[in-house]
Amino acid sequence: MAYTYDDQNIFAKILRGEIPNTTVLETDHTLAFRDIEPQAPVHVLVIPKGAYVSYDHFAAQASDAEIVDFTRAIAKICQMEDITLDDNDGFRMISNAGAHGVQEVPHLHVHILGGRRMGRMVQPAG
Ligand code: AMP
Repeated sequence: MAYTYDDQNIFAKILRGEIPNTTVLETDHTLAFRDIEPQAPVHVLVIPKGAYVSYDHFAAQASDAEIVDFTRAIAKICQMEDITLDDNDGFRMISNAGAHGVQEVPHLHVHILGGRRMGRMVQPAG
């Protein structure tokens, strides 16, 4: 089945510079910025610059260079935000996909949340 990407989504607009963002890190293939409604002291969104709707889309179709860049960017952000497990208290990483994942913005993003205990992973359906 083909993935459908809507280039009018808000993160596509951020990537085109049409909407401002608070950038944490930018690399060749990846942009990371602060969530506009943070749910924790650290709440960073990491997105590929390519047009991928979800993590499964990215993992299946992105180039090796994009995947390595995205993964290494996550490591760098964890170091920059002092949430790594080598010397800190850790974090939660979430990527919602589609209706069951309750994804609001249809451009792949990973939430990196830290700075407090995050509680149970999955809440009752809502
Ligand atoms: P999700 O439900 O996983 O699709 O999450 C979408 C996230 O994008 C939410 O946490 C929003 O607060 C966040 N968000 C929406 N618009 C913006 C924006 N312009 N800048 C930064 N974060 C945003």
